[in-house]
Amino acid sequence: MAADLHLHTHFSDGTYSPEELVGHAGRVGLRAIAVTDHDTVEGCDRAARACAASGLEFVAGAELTCELGGSEVHLLGYYLDTAHPRLLQELAVFQRVRQERVREMVAKLNELQLPLEAQTVFALANCRSPGRPHVARALVQRGLCGTVDEAFERYLKKHRPAWVPKFKMSARQAISLIHEAHGLAVLAHPGLNNNDRIIPRLVEASLDGIECWHTKHTRAATERYVALARQYGLLITGGSDCHGLSKGKPLIGTVRLEWPHFEALKTRALTRGGVPSPAPSPAAVPHTD
Ligand code: AMP
Ligand code: FE
Ligand code: FE
Ligand code: ZN
Repeated sequence: MAADLHLHTHFSDGTYSPEELVGHAGRVGLRAIAVTDHDTVEGCDRAARACAASGLEFVAGAELTCELGGSEVHLLGYYLDTAHPRLLQELAVFQRVRQERVREMVAKLNELQLPLEAQTVFALANCRSPGRPHVARALVQRGLCGTVDEAFERYLKKHRPAWVPKFKMSARQAISLIHEAHGLAVLAHPGLNNNDRIIPRLVEASLDGIECWHTKHTRAATERYVALARQYGLLITGGSDCHGLSKGKPLIGTVRLEWPHFEALKTRALTRGGVPSPAPSPAAVPHTD
């Protein structure tokens, strides 16, 4: 039995609907999944319903863009109360800033004589939490770049001409917010940050876990983070960070968290008084998509 606890839907920069994602989860033999869209929990209710209908365990999550000591860190919130008023209020701020950032990126592209309109990006994104992947896809759709990768390389990567920095909540505030919303705070893909020195500071700020398994972690990185998690008494998680098709195949299920780690996460959430995935009855709510 295995879980994939890092998955995106079209409520942020993934391409699958929550129902499509759950369909893939079942096909690749997962027993539990978490939806962790960037700066939103909007896909969680539909994913919870689809999981309930398919006999999968569901964890409501989000991936928050944060900052600590000048570096960007992504924090995963798990077992969040997706109706928590302050969580929703803070996420709405993230989302407004993301929309403004799309406008700024488009303005920079226009200065580079690329004829793209913000409205094209918003129509393509069709979500409240748009980001660079949507700008990249719009550039491809308009024939202004050959591929999404090219769009990132030429324009959207850090320090490229249309890059705009993103608003980041302090990691301490984000951990408090996740806890206030009855969730657990996990450091996402530390192997991509190249900054393990921040881990003790996150632990001081009451971090609950480390994402040790991730698509882009080498085996050595995973071993290092498992050892660090054990050293600090933190939970151990993992996920594929699937955004849809990658080289023709979805990543979902290519990273499989072993069940005892998933059980430990769930037990911690329950002992904290968190919300253990209260999936609504599948019959009660119709699918809309
Ligand atoms: P944003 O949150 O708007 O800064 O965009 C970050 C997202 O862009 C990540 O979550 C990835 O999904 C995607 N991304 C980052 N770098 C690349 C890249 N070089 N090529 C394609 N997608 C990327
Ligand atoms: Fe993403
Ligand atoms: Fe991330
Ligand atoms: Zn992610």
